[in-house]
Amino acid sequence: MSDTIFTKIINKEIPADVVYEDEISLAFRDIQPQAPVHLLIIPKKPIVTINDMDEEDKSLFGHLFFVAKKIAAEMGFADDGYRVVMNCNEHGGQSVYHVHLHLLAGKPLGWPPYSDTLKV
Ligand code: AMP
Repeated sequence: MSDTIFTKIINKEIPADVVYEDEISLAFRDIQPQAPVHLLIIPKKPIVTINDMDEEDKSLFGHLFFVAKKIAAEMGFADDGYRVVMNCNEHGGQSVYHVHLHLLAGKPLGWPPYSDTLKV
């Protein structure tokens, strides 16, 4: 896989507003926030899409959710609530091909997320 912008952020080659880091993952603020709090939680392992997840990656994906839970508690929006989303490929709206969990919070979030969701 060729490097994405997220590999450059992991390698500190380009700046990001990092809010959390451990040996497995990194969380930073989205450059185009869609909510008052919009973070991206990414694995340091460069997995391209959900479709590329191997059996051995199952706990890594669970770790991303665990980090979301920890950040929600630390930033104080766990009780109000939040949304986690992972987009996959073109129809899912994925634009960066290094898997990432969006963590959105800070206001009541609309559902469904797009007005054309029910037009199949
Ligand atoms: P997705 O469309 O699900 O692939 O999400 C990719 C997200 O990455 C978008 O919300 C972008 O705003 C965000 N993004 C792209 N480049 C950067 C960057 N350099 N720093 C922070 N967020 C970024």
